[in-house]
Amino acid sequence: MHRITVIGGGLAGLTAAITAAEAGAKVTVHEAHHTLGGRARTAEGPYRTNEGPHALYNGGPHWAWLKQRDLIGPLAPIPPLEAARLRLRHKGVLRRTPPFAMLKLLRPGLPPAPVDTDFLTWATGIAGEEGARGAAHYSAVALFHHDPGALSAAFVQERLRRATKLPPEAHYPVGGWATVVDRMAARAWNLGVRMETLSRVDSLPTDTPVVVATSLDAARRLLADPTLTWTSGRTALIDLAVRTRRGDAFAVSDLDSPGWIERFTAQDRTLAPAGEQLIQGQIPVAPHESKADGVARAETLLDLAFGGWRDRVTWRSEALANGRTGAVDLPGTSWRDRPAIDRGDGVYLAGDQVAAPGVLSEVSFNSALTAVSLALGRNALDLKHA
Ligand SMILES: Cc1cc2nc3c(=O)[nH]c(=O)nc-3n(C[C@H](O)[C@H](O)[C@H](O)COP(=O)(O)OP(=O)(O)OC[C@H]3O[C@@H](n4cnc5c(N)ncnc54)[C@H](O)[C@@H]3O)c2cc1C
Repeated sequence: MHRITVIGGGLAGLTAAITAAEAGAKVTVHEAHHTLGGRARTAEGPYRTNEGPHALYNGGPHWAWLKQRDLIGPLAPIPPLEAARLRLRHKGVLRRTPPFAMLKLLRPGLPPAPVDTDFLTWATGIAGEEGARGAAHYSAVALFHHDPGALSAAFVQERLRRATKLPPEAHYPVGGWATVVDRMAARAWNLGVRMETLSRVDSLPTDTPVVVATSLDAARRLLADPTLTWTSGRTALIDLAVRTRRGDAFAVSDLDSPGWIERFTAQDRTLAPAGEQLIQGQIPVAPHESKADGVARAETLLDLAFGGWRDRVTWRSEALANGRTGAVDLPGTSWRDRPAIDRGDGVYLAGDQVAAPGVLSEVSFNSALTAVSLALGRNALDLKHA
């Protein structure tokens, strides 16, 4: 029987552990925190905020994999009346529809954008600068970067397509991602995976193959390898509970500068007590900007779309997610150029900033499958189709 050690019990680590155990390996997971889930944790208490993710994209590979194992659980669909309350800020005012030029970038027949050119240059050639900027800023909902127009056109186009698909790809597990994590942990447990929490690993074990399923920052320290770096986003997060008021927007996308605010109780009433709404804003900030700059921009959007919110606030929290929103690819680079999964000597990386395709957490998922198939010496495709 193969033995395998997984370091990190987030989405990547749990995917790796389940995949390896399903293939017959004896698996041990070490998680530094006292609970599993990593960035996919959901806060306990009256306001069920997520540290990070909300949306599971059903076009991604993890969707089919989780569904096949009955790990997604109940979903919270967006009621049509709420979906109709999506607003776009353009030239300082709220609109219901995107600027016409932006739609040119969503045409199904559009050729794949180039890797080597930045998105703004490529998209301006198709839709003019105004349409290109609007599209770049809209795509921030799936890439969390302060200047999406400066990233590789191919990278941004994929996220723009996924984030604007109809019917929408984004699906919301009732109760937040922690519920999916709980199901994954139960599945791992039933497969005999040994899961040790409060178990921070400071040096790599040498007696088994190891999947390092931590953030890339943590992997760099653990492997003492300064080359383990990749670009990511930096975003101010604002979580708010407000007393319910009719007429609040469902979500606001800022087309004037990147930013997104969503009232998650519109689709999932379980996230806040009755009579209150839970709203999260994520406003990407540039390296020279502070969390306060992002929060100030969020407040401007809130003023436009959530009238009287300041007098309705019952709870509030702010944070800065720095380098925690997954990989972004600069012009001339693609996922293939990110740190390789196979580090040699039986060490494999999994996570959302390594060399695997997909959007956001899909990179963690895909890299976990590849890491395990390499660790067990199997063809990656055998496992993916198993
Ligand atoms: C604001 C925000 C919004 C997001 N929105 C979405 C979204 O809507 N959809 C989506 O798909 N993705 C989204 N993401 C991305 C998603 O959260 C991540 O891609 C995913 O959760 C990463 O999972 P992971 O397992 O690779 O890493 P992590 O979740 O970071 O897990 C790594 C684990 O390793 C542990 N660890 C670290 N070092 C050690 C050590 N030395 N020993 C033992 N354990 C260790 C950590 O405690 C952690 O639990 C979002 C992220 C953020 C921050």
